[in-house]
Amino acid sequence: MSESDGKKGQSSRVAMPEQDPKIRARNFLEVPTGYTVKMAQEEASRCLQCKKPGCVEGCPVGVDIPGFIDLIAHGDFTGAIRNLWKKNALPAVCGRVCPQESQCEGKCIVGKKGQPVAIGNLERFCADYEREHGQGELPPKAGPTGKRVAVVGSGPSGLTVAGDLIVKGHDVTIFEAFHKPGGVLVYGIPEFRLPKAIVAQEVNFLERLGVKIECNAVVGRTVSLDELFEQGYDAIYVGVGAGLPKFMNIPGENLVGILSANEYLTRANLMKAYKYPEVDTPIPRGKNVVVLGAGNVAMDSARTAMRLGAETVKIVYRRSREEMPARHAEIHHAEEEGIELCLLTNPTRYLGDANGRLTGMECLRMELGEPDSSGRRRPVAVKGSEFEIACDLCIVAVGSGANPLLTSETPDMKLNKWGNVVADERNGKTSKKAVWAGGDIVTGAATVILAMGAGRAAANSMHDYLTLGW
Ligand SMILES: Cc1cc2nc3c(=O)[nH]c(=O)nc-3n(C[C@H](O)[C@H](O)[C@H](O)COP(=O)(O)OP(=O)(O)OC[C@H]3O[C@@H](n4cnc5c(N)ncnc54)[C@H](O)[C@@H]3O)c2cc1C
Ligand code: SF4
Repeated sequence: MSESDGKKGQSSRVAMPEQDPKIRARNFLEVPTGYTVKMAQEEASRCLQCKKPGCVEGCPVGVDIPGFIDLIAHGDFTGAIRNLWKKNALPAVCGRVCPQESQCEGKCIVGKKGQPVAIGNLERFCADYEREHGQGELPPKAGPTGKRVAVVGSGPSGLTVAGDLIVKGHDVTIFEAFHKPGGVLVYGIPEFRLPKAIVAQEVNFLERLGVKIECNAVVGRTVSLDELFEQGYDAIYVGVGAGLPKFMNIPGENLVGILSANEYLTRANLMKAYKYPEVDTPIPRGKNVVVLGAGNVAMDSARTAMRLGAETVKIVYRRSREEMPARHAEIHHAEEEGIELCLLTNPTRYLGDANGRLTGMECLRMELGEPDSSGRRRPVAVKGSEFEIACDLCIVAVGSGANPLLTSETPDMKLNKWGNVVADERNGKTSKKAVWAGGDIVTGAATVILAMGAGRAAANSMHDYLTLGW
Protein backbone atom coordinates (compact mmCIF):
# COMPACT_ATOMS: atom_id res chain seq x y z
CA MET A 1 0.00 0.00 0.00
CA SER A 2 2.96 2.33 0.26
CA GLU A 3 2.94 5.25 -2.12
CA SER A 4 6.38 6.32 -1.01
CA ASP A 5 9.99 5.31 -0.65
CA GLY A 6 10.42 6.62 2.90
CA LYS A 7 12.57 9.71 2.22
CA LYS A 8 12.17 12.76 4.46
CA GLY A 9 9.89 15.47 3.05
CA GLN A 10 8.81 13.32 0.10
CA SER A 11 5.51 14.38 -1.42
CA SER A 12 3.42 11.17 -1.24
CA ARG A 13 2.14 9.86 2.04
CA VAL A 14 1.78 6.20 2.97
CA ALA A 15 -1.87 5.39 2.28
CA MET A 16 -3.79 3.63 5.02
CA PRO A 17 -5.42 0.42 3.69
CA GLU A 18 -9.22 0.52 3.49
CA GLN A 19 -12.08 -1.93 2.95
CA ASP A 20 -13.21 -2.05 -0.67
CA PRO A 21 -16.02 0.53 -1.15
CA LYS A 22 -18.46 -1.99 -2.68
CA ILE A 23 -18.07 -4.38 0.27
CA ARG A 24 -17.95 -1.81 3.07
CA ALA A 25 -21.04 0.05 1.78
CA ARG A 26 -23.05 -2.89 3.13
CA ASN A 27 -21.27 -3.56 6.42
CA PHE A 28 -20.63 -1.65 9.65
CA LEU A 29 -16.95 -2.60 10.02
CA GLU A 30 -14.37 0.19 10.24
CA VAL A 31 -13.43 1.60 6.82
CA PRO A 32 -9.66 2.31 7.15
CA THR A 33 -7.98 -0.73 8.67
CA GLY A 34 -4.87 0.91 10.20
CA TYR A 35 -1.13 1.15 9.55
CA THR A 36 1.28 -1.73 10.07
CA VAL A 37 4.46 -0.97 12.06
CA LYS A 38 6.41 -0.69 8.80
CA MET A 39 3.92 1.72 7.26
CA ALA A 40 3.85 3.89 10.40
CA GLN A 41 7.64 4.13 10.54
CA GLU A 42 7.82 4.92 6.85
CA GLU A 43 5.23 7.68 7.16
CA ALA A 44 6.91 9.02 10.33
CA SER A 45 10.17 9.30 8.42
CA ARG A 46 8.56 11.91 6.11
CA CYS A 47 8.43 14.42 9.00
CA LEU A 48 11.10 17.14 8.75
CA GLN A 49 11.23 17.66 12.55
CA CYS A 50 10.73 21.41 12.08
CA LYS A 51 12.19 23.74 14.71
CA LYS A 52 9.06 25.91 14.52
CA PRO A 53 6.42 23.27 13.67
CA GLY A 54 3.31 24.68 11.99
CA CYS A 55 1.47 21.46 12.80
CA VAL A 56 1.60 22.17 16.55
CA GLU A 57 0.22 25.68 15.99
CA GLY A 58 -2.67 24.06 14.11
CA CYS A 59 -3.50 21.63 16.95
CA PRO A 60 -6.15 23.04 19.34
CA VAL A 61 -4.57 21.19 22.30
CA GLY A 62 -0.90 21.71 21.34
CA VAL A 63 0.18 18.05 20.94
CA ASP A 64 4.00 17.73 20.56
CA ILE A 65 3.58 16.39 17.02
CA PRO A 66 7.24 16.23 15.88
CA GLY A 67 8.08 14.65 19.26
CA PHE A 68 5.66 11.73 19.03
CA ILE A 69 6.38 11.22 15.32
CA ASP A 70 10.13 11.04 16.00
CA LEU A 71 9.51 8.36 18.65
CA ILE A 72 7.52 6.32 16.09
CA ALA A 73 10.30 6.71 13.53
CA HIS A 74 12.73 5.28 16.12
CA GLY A 75 10.41 2.39 17.03
CA ASP A 76 9.58 3.65 20.53
CA PHE A 77 5.80 3.26 20.30
CA THR A 78 5.28 3.24 24.07
CA GLY A 79 7.18 6.52 24.32
CA ALA A 80 5.07 7.92 21.48
CA ILE A 81 1.74 7.17 23.19
CA ARG A 82 3.02 8.56 26.51
CA ASN A 83 4.01 11.74 24.69
CA LEU A 84 0.53 11.99 23.09
CA TRP A 85 -1.31 11.40 26.38
CA LYS A 86 0.38 14.48 27.91
CA LYS A 87 -1.88 16.70 25.77
CA ASN A 88 -4.60 14.40 24.44
CA ALA A 89 -6.55 11.93 26.59
CA LEU A 90 -8.38 10.33 23.61
CA PRO A 91 -5.82 9.77 20.82
CA ALA A 92 -7.59 6.69 19.39
CA VAL A 93 -10.67 8.87 18.92
CA CYS A 94 -8.93 12.00 17.64
CA GLY A 95 -6.71 10.05 15.23
CA ARG A 96 -9.94 8.81 13.62
CA VAL A 97 -12.32 11.78 13.67
CA CYS A 98 -10.40 15.09 14.00
CA PRO A 99 -10.60 17.40 10.96
CA GLN A 100 -6.80 17.21 10.49
CA GLU A 101 -6.91 18.83 7.06
CA SER A 102 -7.97 22.13 8.62
CA GLN A 103 -5.83 21.73 11.75
CA CYS A 104 -2.38 20.10 12.15
CA GLU A 105 -2.07 18.64 8.65
CA GLY A 106 -3.34 21.87 7.12
CA LYS A 107 -0.28 23.62 8.58
CA CYS A 108 2.34 20.92 7.93
CA ILE A 109 5.23 22.30 5.86
CA VAL A 110 5.48 19.10 3.82
CA GLY A 111 1.97 19.86 2.55
CA LYS A 112 3.24 22.98 0.76
CA LYS A 113 4.77 20.88 -2.02
CA GLY A 114 2.82 17.65 -1.77
CA GLN A 115 0.74 15.72 0.74
CA PRO A 116 1.25 16.68 4.41
CA VAL A 117 2.55 14.12 6.92
CA ALA A 118 -0.39 11.85 7.89
CA ILE A 119 -0.46 13.05 11.51
CA GLY A 120 -3.95 11.69 12.23
CA ASN A 121 -3.08 8.23 10.90
CA LEU A 122 0.08 8.18 13.03
CA GLU A 123 -1.84 9.26 16.12
CA ARG A 124 -4.32 6.45 15.52
CA PHE A 125 -1.47 3.99 15.02
CA CYS A 126 0.07 4.84 18.43
CA ALA A 127 -3.23 4.43 20.27
CA ASP A 128 -4.08 1.17 18.48
CA TYR A 129 -0.58 -0.22 19.07
CA GLU A 130 -0.85 0.55 22.79
CA ARG A 131 -4.31 -1.06 22.96
CA GLU A 132 -3.07 -4.23 21.29
CA HIS A 133 0.41 -4.51 22.81
CA GLY A 134 0.56 -2.20 25.88
CA GLN A 135 0.54 -3.34 29.49
CA GLY A 136 -2.49 -1.16 30.33
CA GLU A 137 -0.42 0.82 32.85
CA LEU A 138 -2.24 3.63 34.62
CA PRO A 139 -0.67 7.08 35.00
CA PRO A 140 0.45 8.12 38.49
CA LYS A 141 -2.35 9.56 40.66
CA ALA A 142 -2.06 12.21 43.39
CA GLY A 143 -3.27 11.33 46.92
CA PRO A 144 -6.93 12.05 47.76
CA THR A 145 -7.81 15.71 48.22
CA GLY A 146 -11.18 14.96 49.86
CA LYS A 147 -12.96 17.08 47.23
CA ARG A 148 -15.89 15.75 45.17
CA VAL A 149 -16.59 16.71 41.57
CA ALA A 150 -19.74 16.01 39.51
CA VAL A 151 -19.38 15.95 35.73
CA VAL A 152 -22.67 16.20 33.83
CA GLY A 153 -22.45 14.55 30.40
CA SER A 154 -20.00 11.88 29.25
CA GLY A 155 -19.02 13.23 25.84
CA PRO A 156 -15.41 14.07 25.02
CA SER A 157 -15.43 17.25 27.13
CA GLY A 158 -16.85 15.54 30.24
CA LEU A 159 -14.50 12.55 29.85
CA THR A 160 -11.50 14.89 29.60
CA VAL A 161 -12.47 16.78 32.76
CA ALA A 162 -13.02 13.50 34.62
CA GLY A 163 -9.65 12.09 33.49
CA ASP A 164 -7.74 15.24 34.38
CA LEU A 165 -9.31 15.69 37.83
CA ILE A 166 -9.13 12.05 38.95
CA VAL A 167 -5.34 11.98 38.52
CA LYS A 168 -5.11 15.19 40.56
CA GLY A 169 -6.64 13.28 43.49
CA HIS A 170 -10.27 14.45 43.39
CA ASP A 171 -13.26 12.11 43.71
CA VAL A 172 -15.10 12.26 40.36
CA THR A 173 -18.59 11.06 39.36
CA ILE A 174 -19.98 11.41 35.83
CA PHE A 175 -23.77 11.69 35.41
CA GLU A 176 -25.00 10.60 31.96
CA ALA A 177 -28.58 10.78 30.66
CA PHE A 178 -28.24 7.85 28.24
CA HIS A 179 -27.71 4.22 29.24
CA LYS A 180 -24.14 4.24 27.84
CA PRO A 181 -21.31 6.75 28.35
CA GLY A 182 -19.43 8.42 25.47
CA GLY A 183 -21.78 11.16 24.18
CA VAL A 184 -21.73 11.71 20.44
CA LEU A 185 -18.74 9.36 20.20
CA VAL A 186 -21.19 6.55 20.94
CA TYR A 187 -24.64 7.68 19.85
CA GLY A 188 -23.68 9.91 16.89
CA ILE A 189 -20.55 8.74 15.10
CA PRO A 190 -21.20 5.32 13.52
CA GLU A 191 -19.30 2.11 14.15
CA PHE A 192 -17.68 2.15 10.68
CA ARG A 193 -15.92 5.40 11.58
CA LEU A 194 -15.32 4.97 15.30
CA PRO A 195 -15.82 1.46 16.71
CA LYS A 196 -17.74 1.48 20.00
CA ALA A 197 -15.13 -0.86 21.52
CA ILE A 198 -12.54 1.92 21.24
CA VAL A 199 -14.69 4.43 23.10
CA ALA A 200 -15.58 1.75 25.66
CA GLN A 201 -11.89 1.14 26.27
CA GLU A 202 -11.23 4.87 26.86
CA VAL A 203 -14.16 4.96 29.30
CA ASN A 204 -12.91 1.80 31.01
CA PHE A 205 -9.49 3.44 31.42
CA LEU A 206 -11.15 6.26 33.40
CA GLU A 207 -13.11 3.77 35.50
CA ARG A 208 -9.90 1.92 36.34
CA LEU A 209 -8.50 5.25 37.49
CA GLY A 210 -11.47 5.51 39.87
CA VAL A 211 -14.01 7.65 37.98
CA LYS A 212 -17.59 6.62 38.87
CA ILE A 213 -20.22 6.72 36.12
CA GLU A 214 -23.97 6.95 36.78
CA CYS A 215 -25.96 6.33 33.60
CA ASN A 216 -29.70 7.05 33.10
CA ALA A 217 -29.25 10.20 35.23
CA VAL A 218 -30.84 13.24 33.59
CA VAL A 219 -29.46 16.13 35.60
CA GLY A 220 -32.04 18.92 35.70
CA ARG A 221 -34.81 16.30 35.85
CA THR A 222 -33.75 13.47 38.19
CA VAL A 223 -31.51 15.77 40.26
CA SER A 224 -30.72 19.50 40.02
CA LEU A 225 -27.28 21.15 40.19
CA ASP A 226 -28.20 22.62 43.61
CA GLU A 227 -29.19 19.17 44.86
CA LEU A 228 -25.79 17.85 43.74
CA PHE A 229 -24.15 20.56 45.86
CA GLU A 230 -26.42 19.57 48.78
CA GLN A 231 -25.23 15.96 48.29
CA GLY A 232 -21.68 17.15 48.98
CA TYR A 233 -20.19 17.88 45.56
CA ASP A 234 -17.72 20.78 45.73
CA ALA A 235 -17.63 21.64 42.01
CA ILE A 236 -19.64 20.74 38.89
CA TYR A 237 -18.73 20.59 35.19
CA VAL A 238 -21.54 20.86 32.64
CA GLY A 239 -20.76 19.19 29.30
CA VAL A 240 -24.22 18.31 28.01
CA GLY A 241 -23.59 18.94 24.30
CA ALA A 242 -25.74 20.27 21.49
CA GLY A 243 -28.18 17.44 20.94
CA LEU A 244 -31.36 19.37 20.07
CA PRO A 245 -32.14 18.70 16.39
CA LYS A 246 -33.07 21.52 14.00
CA PHE A 247 -35.56 21.05 11.18
CA MET A 248 -36.17 22.83 7.86
CA ASN A 249 -39.55 24.30 8.88
CA ILE A 250 -41.01 23.75 5.42
CA PRO A 251 -44.50 22.38 4.56
CA GLY A 252 -45.01 18.65 4.99
CA GLU A 253 -42.47 18.14 7.78
CA ASN A 254 -44.90 15.92 9.75
CA LEU A 255 -45.15 13.25 7.04
CA VAL A 256 -44.17 9.72 8.02
CA GLY A 257 -40.64 9.08 6.75
CA ILE A 258 -38.99 12.34 7.88
CA LEU A 259 -36.78 12.24 10.93
CA SER A 260 -33.82 14.05 12.44
CA ALA A 261 -30.30 12.72 11.98
CA ASN A 262 -30.03 12.76 15.75
CA GLU A 263 -32.89 10.27 16.15
CA TYR A 264 -31.80 8.18 13.16
CA LEU A 265 -28.18 7.84 14.29
CA THR A 266 -29.10 7.31 17.96
CA ARG A 267 -31.41 4.46 16.99
CA ALA A 268 -28.81 2.97 14.66
CA ASN A 269 -25.79 3.36 16.94
CA LEU A 270 -26.71 3.35 20.59
CA MET A 271 -29.77 1.15 20.30
CA LYS A 272 -28.23 -1.19 17.69
CA ALA A 273 -31.22 -0.84 15.36
CA TYR A 274 -29.04 -2.09 12.52
CA LYS A 275 -29.39 -5.52 14.11
CA TYR A 276 -33.23 -5.40 14.03
CA PRO A 277 -35.11 -7.81 14.51
CA GLU A 278 -32.30 -9.50 16.50
CA VAL A 279 -32.33 -6.28 18.59
CA ASP A 280 -35.86 -4.92 18.92
CA THR A 281 -35.25 -1.22 18.14
CA PRO A 282 -37.03 -0.42 14.88
CA ILE A 283 -35.51 1.96 12.35
CA PRO A 284 -37.03 3.15 9.05
CA ARG A 285 -35.15 1.55 6.16
CA GLY A 286 -35.73 3.72 3.12
CA LYS A 287 -35.38 2.48 -0.45
CA ASN A 288 -34.66 5.95 -1.84
CA VAL A 289 -33.16 8.11 0.86
CA VAL A 290 -32.45 11.85 0.89
CA VAL A 291 -30.23 13.42 3.54
CA LEU A 292 -30.48 17.19 3.99
CA GLY A 293 -27.22 18.92 5.01
CA ALA A 294 -23.52 18.49 4.22
CA GLY A 295 -21.66 18.21 7.53
CA ASN A 296 -20.22 15.11 9.20
CA VAL A 297 -23.66 14.31 10.60
CA ALA A 298 -25.13 14.26 7.08
CA MET A 299 -22.31 12.03 5.77
CA ASP A 300 -22.75 9.62 8.70
CA SER A 301 -26.52 9.46 8.13
CA ALA A 302 -26.16 8.86 4.39
CA ARG A 303 -23.53 6.16 4.83
CA THR A 304 -25.62 4.48 7.54
CA ALA A 305 -28.69 4.49 5.25
CA MET A 306 -26.62 2.83 2.52
CA ARG A 307 -25.47 0.16 4.97
CA LEU A 308 -29.07 -0.43 6.04
CA GLY A 309 -29.92 -1.44 2.47
CA ALA A 310 -31.04 1.72 0.63
CA GLU A 311 -31.02 1.49 -3.17
CA THR A 312 -30.20 5.18 -3.65
CA VAL A 313 -28.92 7.77 -1.19
CA LYS A 314 -28.73 11.46 -2.12
CA ILE A 315 -27.21 14.31 -0.13
CA VAL A 316 -29.09 17.53 -0.84
CA TYR A 317 -27.17 20.74 -0.06
CA ARG A 318 -27.95 24.32 -0.99
CA ARG A 319 -24.33 25.47 -1.45
CA SER A 320 -21.45 24.03 -3.52
CA ARG A 321 -18.81 21.39 -2.77
CA GLU A 322 -16.31 24.00 -1.50
CA GLU A 323 -18.68 25.04 1.29
CA MET A 324 -19.47 21.50 2.50
CA PRO A 325 -18.51 21.46 6.21
CA ALA A 326 -17.83 17.69 6.44
CA ARG A 327 -14.27 16.36 6.62
CA HIS A 328 -12.81 15.77 3.15
CA ALA A 329 -12.22 12.10 3.94
CA GLU A 330 -15.90 11.59 4.79
CA ILE A 331 -17.10 13.19 1.54
CA HIS A 332 -14.62 11.10 -0.43
CA HIS A 333 -15.68 7.89 1.35
CA ALA A 334 -19.38 8.68 0.88
CA GLU A 335 -18.97 9.21 -2.86
CA GLU A 336 -16.89 6.04 -3.19
CA GLU A 337 -19.74 4.13 -1.53
CA GLY A 338 -22.20 5.33 -4.19
CA ILE A 339 -23.80 8.30 -2.41
CA GLU A 340 -24.83 11.05 -4.81
CA LEU A 341 -24.24 14.73 -4.01
CA CYS A 342 -27.07 17.02 -5.18
CA LEU A 343 -25.39 20.40 -4.73
CA LEU A 344 -26.87 23.90 -5.11
CA THR A 345 -30.27 22.36 -4.38
CA ASN A 346 -32.73 23.55 -1.74
CA PRO A 347 -35.93 21.71 -0.72
CA THR A 348 -39.00 23.95 -0.47
CA ARG A 349 -41.67 21.41 0.55
CA TYR A 350 -42.14 17.72 1.23
CA LEU A 351 -44.60 15.68 -0.85
CA GLY A 352 -46.76 12.88 0.57
CA ASP A 353 -49.41 10.32 -0.39
CA ALA A 354 -52.98 9.94 0.90
CA ASN A 355 -51.72 7.92 3.89
CA GLY A 356 -49.47 10.74 5.05
CA ARG A 357 -46.29 9.00 3.91
CA LEU A 358 -43.36 10.82 2.32
CA THR A 359 -43.07 10.34 -1.45
CA GLY A 360 -40.62 13.07 -2.37
CA MET A 361 -39.71 16.72 -2.12
CA GLU A 362 -39.89 19.77 -4.27
CA CYS A 363 -36.57 21.59 -4.68
CA LEU A 364 -35.17 24.72 -6.25
CA ARG A 365 -31.82 25.05 -8.01
CA MET A 366 -29.51 27.59 -6.33
CA GLU A 367 -26.58 29.73 -7.41
CA LEU A 368 -24.01 31.44 -5.21
CA GLY A 369 -24.29 35.18 -4.58
CA GLU A 370 -22.34 37.58 -2.32
CA PRO A 371 -20.71 36.27 0.91
CA ASP A 372 -22.99 36.24 3.99
CA SER A 373 -22.11 36.81 7.68
CA SER A 374 -20.38 33.38 7.81
CA GLY A 375 -18.05 34.48 4.99
CA ARG A 376 -19.50 31.84 2.66
CA ARG A 377 -21.24 32.85 -0.56
CA ARG A 378 -24.99 33.12 -0.03
CA PRO A 379 -27.10 30.62 -2.01
CA VAL A 380 -29.74 32.38 -4.14
CA ALA A 381 -32.71 30.55 -5.72
CA VAL A 382 -32.84 30.34 -9.51
CA LYS A 383 -36.33 31.52 -10.56
CA GLY A 384 -38.55 28.89 -12.14
CA SER A 385 -36.11 26.06 -11.41
CA GLU A 386 -38.54 23.90 -9.36
CA PHE A 387 -38.07 20.15 -9.71
CA GLU A 388 -38.91 17.03 -7.68
CA ILE A 389 -36.78 14.35 -6.05
CA ALA A 390 -38.59 11.09 -5.21
CA CYS A 391 -37.79 9.54 -1.82
CA ASP A 392 -39.43 7.48 0.91
CA LEU A 393 -37.08 8.47 3.74
CA CYS A 394 -35.62 11.91 4.51
CA ILE A 395 -33.03 12.41 7.24
CA VAL A 396 -32.65 16.02 8.32
CA ALA A 397 -29.06 16.92 9.25
CA VAL A 398 -29.11 20.71 9.11
CA GLY A 399 -27.58 21.37 12.52
CA SER A 400 -28.46 21.06 16.18
CA GLY A 401 -28.94 23.45 19.06
CA ALA A 402 -28.08 23.56 22.76
CA ASN A 403 -29.46 20.70 24.84
CA PRO A 404 -32.07 22.42 27.08
CA LEU A 405 -32.77 19.63 29.61
CA LEU A 406 -30.41 20.93 32.26
CA THR A 407 -30.16 24.60 31.38
CA SER A 408 -33.94 25.17 31.41
CA GLU A 409 -33.99 23.93 35.02
CA THR A 410 -31.04 26.09 36.13
CA PRO A 411 -32.30 29.69 35.95
CA ASP A 412 -29.27 31.18 37.75
CA MET A 413 -26.83 30.00 35.04
CA LYS A 414 -26.51 32.64 32.30
CA LEU A 415 -27.31 31.57 28.72
CA ASN A 416 -26.85 33.43 25.42
CA LYS A 417 -29.71 34.07 22.99
CA TRP A 418 -29.31 30.62 21.41
CA GLY A 419 -29.54 28.84 24.77
CA ASN A 420 -25.81 28.07 25.05
CA VAL A 421 -24.21 28.40 28.47
CA VAL A 422 -22.14 31.58 28.83
CA ALA A 423 -18.69 30.53 30.09
CA ASP A 424 -15.30 32.24 30.33
CA GLU A 425 -13.38 31.30 27.14
CA ARG A 426 -10.12 30.84 29.06
CA ASN A 427 -11.32 28.53 31.84
CA GLY A 428 -15.00 27.60 31.38
CA LYS A 429 -16.29 29.38 34.52
CA THR A 430 -20.04 30.06 34.34
CA SER A 431 -22.10 32.71 36.13
CA LYS A 432 -23.13 30.10 38.73
CA LYS A 433 -20.79 29.62 41.66
CA ALA A 434 -18.59 26.50 41.48
CA VAL A 435 -20.04 25.49 38.10
CA TRP A 436 -17.93 25.23 34.92
CA ALA A 437 -19.10 24.38 31.40
CA GLY A 438 -17.51 23.50 28.06
CA GLY A 439 -17.83 21.69 24.74
CA ASP A 440 -20.84 21.99 22.42
CA ILE A 441 -23.17 23.33 25.13
CA VAL A 442 -21.00 26.48 25.20
CA THR A 443 -19.75 26.78 21.61
CA GLY A 444 -22.68 25.23 19.75
CA ALA A 445 -22.04 22.11 17.63
CA ALA A 446 -18.25 22.01 17.03
CA THR A 447 -15.58 19.30 17.15
CA VAL A 448 -14.31 16.57 19.46
CA ILE A 449 -10.92 18.20 19.94
CA LEU A 450 -12.41 21.62 20.79
CA ALA A 451 -14.69 19.97 23.36
CA MET A 452 -11.66 18.21 24.85
CA GLY A 453 -9.61 21.43 24.86
CA ALA A 454 -12.41 23.21 26.74
CA GLY A 455 -12.57 20.31 29.21
CA ARG A 456 -8.84 20.50 29.90
CA ALA A 457 -8.91 24.28 30.48
CA ALA A 458 -11.88 23.90 32.84
CA ALA A 459 -10.25 21.01 34.73
CA ASN A 460 -7.18 23.18 35.45
CA SER A 461 -9.38 26.02 36.71
CA MET A 462 -11.51 23.63 38.81
CA HIS A 463 -8.37 22.13 40.34
CA ASP A 464 -7.17 25.62 41.32
CA TYR A 465 -10.58 26.34 42.88
CA LEU A 466 -10.66 23.02 44.75
CA THR A 467 -7.15 23.37 46.13
CA LEU A 468 -6.69 27.16 46.49
CA GLY A 469 -10.30 28.50 46.62
CA TRP A 470 -11.46 31.48 44.55
C1 LIG B 1 -23.10 12.33 13.85
C2 LIG B 1 -21.99 13.24 14.31
C3 LIG B 1 -20.75 13.12 13.71
C4 LIG B 1 -19.69 13.93 14.13
N1 LIG B 1 -18.46 13.76 13.56
C5 LIG B 1 -17.41 14.46 14.02
C6 LIG B 1 -16.10 14.26 13.50
O1 LIG B 1 -15.89 13.47 12.58
N2 LIG B 1 -15.08 14.97 14.02
C7 LIG B 1 -15.27 15.85 15.05
O2 LIG B 1 -14.30 16.43 15.54
N3 LIG B 1 -16.50 16.10 15.55
C8 LIG B 1 -17.57 15.42 15.06
N4 LIG B 1 -18.82 15.66 15.56
C9 LIG B 1 -18.99 16.68 16.61
C10 LIG B 1 -18.50 16.16 17.96
O3 LIG B 1 -18.91 14.84 18.15
C11 LIG B 1 -19.00 17.06 19.09
O4 LIG B 1 -18.51 18.37 18.84
C12 LIG B 1 -18.52 16.58 20.45
O5 LIG B 1 -18.96 15.27 20.73
C13 LIG B 1 -19.01 17.51 21.57
O6 LIG B 1 -18.64 16.97 22.80
P1 LIG B 1 -19.40 17.33 24.17
O7 LIG B 1 -18.67 16.58 25.22
O8 LIG B 1 -19.52 18.80 24.29
O9 LIG B 1 -20.88 16.80 23.99
P2 LIG B 1 -21.55 15.41 23.56
O10 LIG B 1 -20.60 14.51 22.85
O11 LIG B 1 -22.80 15.79 22.85
O12 LIG B 1 -21.92 14.73 24.95
C14 LIG B 1 -22.88 15.28 25.79
C15 LIG B 1 -23.42 14.20 26.70
O13 LIG B 1 -24.23 14.80 27.70
C16 LIG B 1 -25.36 13.98 27.91
N5 LIG B 1 -26.43 14.81 28.51
C17 LIG B 1 -27.18 15.77 27.90
N6 LIG B 1 -28.02 16.32 28.79
C18 LIG B 1 -27.80 15.70 29.97
C19 LIG B 1 -28.36 15.84 31.26
N7 LIG B 1 -29.31 16.74 31.50
N8 LIG B 1 -27.91 15.03 32.26
C20 LIG B 1 -26.93 14.11 32.02
N9 LIG B 1 -26.35 13.95 30.80
C21 LIG B 1 -26.79 14.74 29.80
C22 LIG B 1 -25.70 13.47 26.53
O14 LIG B 1 -26.51 12.30 26.60
C23 LIG B 1 -24.31 13.20 25.98
O15 LIG B 1 -23.88 11.89 26.28
C24 LIG B 1 -19.91 14.88 15.15
C25 LIG B 1 -21.18 15.03 15.73
C26 LIG B 1 -22.21 14.21 15.32
C27 LIG B 1 -23.57 14.37 15.96
S1 SF4 C 1 5.00 20.66 10.21
FE1 SF4 C 1 4.95 18.60 9.25
S2 SF4 C 1 7.11 18.19 8.84
FE2 SF4 C 1 7.11 19.88 10.33
S3 SF4 C 1 7.21 18.88 12.35
FE3 SF4 C 1 5.02 19.11 11.87
S4 SF4 C 1 4.45 17.14 10.91
FE4 SF4 C 1 6.72 17.27 10.85
